[in-house]
Amino acid sequence: MYSQNPVFIPGPTNMPEVVRKACDMPTIDHRSPAFARLFKPAVAGVKRVLKMGEGEVIILPSTGTGGWEAAISNTLSPGDTVLAARFGMFSHRWIDMCQRHGLKVQIIETPWGQGAPIAAIEAALKADKTGTIKAVLATHNETATGVRSDIAGIRRAMDAAGHDALLLVDGVSSIGSMPFDMAGWGVDIAVAGSQKGFMLPAGLAILGVSPKAIAAMDTATLPRTFFDFRDMLRSYAAGGYPYTPAVGLIAGLARAIEVLEDEGLDNVYARHHRLAEGVRRAVAAWGMTPCAVSPDLYSDTITAVVVPEGCNGTDLVKLAAEKYDVAFGVGLGEVAGKVFRIGHLGMLTDVMVLSGLAAAEMCMADLGWNIRLGSGVAAAQEYYRGSARAMALAAE
Ligand SMILES: *Cc1c(COP(=O)(O)O)cnc(C)c1O
Repeated sequence: MYSQNPVFIPGPTNMPEVVRKACDMPTIDHRSPAFARLFKPAVAGVKRVLKMGEGEVIILPSTGTGGWEAAISNTLSPGDTVLAARFGMFSHRWIDMCQRHGLKVQIIETPWGQGAPIAAIEAALKADKTGTIKAVLATHNETATGVRSDIAGIRRAMDAAGHDALLLVDGVSSIGSMPFDMAGWGVDIAVAGSQKGFMLPAGLAILGVSPKAIAAMDTATLPRTFFDFRDMLRSYAAGGYPYTPAVGLIAGLARAIEVLEDEGLDNVYARHHRLAEGVRRAVAAWGMTPCAVSPDLYSDTITAVVVPEGCNGTDLVKLAAEKYDVAFGVGLGEVAGKVFRIGHLGMLTDVMVLSGLAAAEMCMADLGWNIRLGSGVAAAQEYYRGSARAMALAAE
């Protein structure tokens, strides 16, 4: 028997049946008009989800990490300086990648649990009188800590400093689940992956690229071939790819965006907020706290739950997998063992989330943690009952 339990990891996420079926298709020639017909709606849909203005969507056979590499290698040159805050495993890994590519990273060390430090970013940009900083890197949703940063605030800081750097944003665990406004926030490259908000298997890096970032390709000299946007854009103009695209995933992407838009993007975001709020009520009822240090930073896609002294979050994740066949996320890096993570993004409902909370409680009880079975579930139930009613009334 294979389990039909939903997963509560922050990606890959649960897949709607229609999206799975859309990925499952017969072979087609990727140089045929049939491919172009399938590709165009996917690109147009991504533009709407990102709220892009002018610019291009690039869809690479890769993952979010490849999207980071594509973003930096197409716009920067060896020795260039980039500015980045480090406040979790994902912001750390992007910084590490930049260093391995021969970029200088001006790092603003920020405690894990906090978000991108806007004032420090503004100060660093103001101090950069000669325009040494070529790009500001921002992790919109730090999946390790469950912290959402204020990208509009970073844009305001860049404008206040009158700085011309590119703004490159990792939206891998936010795009498609939380509001994203590429044009409004002046984002030059937004990076997403297929297996999070888009509810697909891993295998695509999905990027929105602004005209300014496209112009930067002409002078950027970091080595790139597979990820070179110039090859992609030349082939796009002819309706295809410079190599073999992941056709089934692209078909799935177009279908996934239909699913999101049938619900309505604003409703999708409101649902994620509700699901997250229910999880947070449960966490509070357990006497625990999110790793994110203040409510304005709470992520609506992932909650990293700080476990009590003497408890180990990784034990819970292991037990949940072994005994109940339920997947949660372990703590990463600095917070390994200190948190466990509940992913609540993608195809999820109130009822599914309640099952995850119930499974987490069983594990806590099994491990001898000091919680009462049903306490968190009840808190979430009360919240979901109330807010579901409010939603139904609003729809009337
Ligand atoms: C998952 C994730 C990534 C990495 O994406 P992969 O698809 O695993 O390569 C990068 N950034 C964030 C914020 C993520 O959540």
